[in-house]
Amino acid sequence: MVDPVDCEVQVREVLDRMAEAALRSGRRPEDVRLLGVTKTHPVERILPVARTGLVWALGENRVQEAEGKIENWPEDLSIPWHLIGHLQRNKARKAMALFDVIHSVDSLRLAETLDRLALEFDKAPYDIMIEVNTSGEASKHGISPEETLDLLDGIFSSCGSLNPVGLMTVGPLCDDQVRIGRAFGVLRELRDRARKEFGRPLPELSMGMSGDFELAIEEGSTIVRVGSAIFGERERRQ
Ligand SMILES: *Cc1c(COP(=O)(O)O)cnc(C)c1O
Repeated sequence: MVDPVDCEVQVREVLDRMAEAALRSGRRPEDVRLLGVTKTHPVERILPVARTGLVWALGENRVQEAEGKIENWPEDLSIPWHLIGHLQRNKARKAMALFDVIHSVDSLRLAETLDRLALEFDKAPYDIMIEVNTSGEASKHGISPEETLDLLDGIFSSCGSLNPVGLMTVGPLCDDQVRIGRAFGVLRELRDRARKEFGRPLPELSMGMSGDFELAIEEGSTIVRVGSAIFGERERRQ
């Protein structure tokens, strides 16, 4: 059994660090929201954290894994679920049924599929973000920064049931603070260019995880996706 007091302390600690990072960079703490990343953790572990009321939304990165959790979630505890991991088109239907927001749209084909599903599920306008590979690491999902504006253009012109709210990225996996900060800066600059080009607000920058969320906030993040700093270390996947 997880002690509810313990998890409240963990979440408050993350929120304090988020607020300090926001203030350091001249931003308001309430402009940055905390998404709790629940992958690998069972519902019993997630519930006490959700019940603190301190976490804005929950994030899963695999449709299959999320399905069991969302279906067993108590009806009286309403919290949005976000898909933050790569989405294959053959799982788009299930993803649309389960999630409130998808952060990982990275192709026009996937967007067009989600667009049809949003209409069919009566979920239009459905909030999405474009996942951008800002580090150039081959292991990372996401579209390249160079192709991002074209993808947004395609979505704005042919996916009327989708509502692009911003951009998402995963920072480079390294200890080099300058390099990590630069990747987050790339995402912010892309968003600013897209805003000008399309005249849309695109308010969200989904960036920052347990190891780099303060840096991300200093670069403009509005949603940090934090797993291990709240729930503890995950078991490694085989
Ligand atoms: C797992 C994951 C996170 C959270 O990672 P932590 O280091 O545990 O905070 C954030 N974003 C994505 C896309 C993830 O897959």
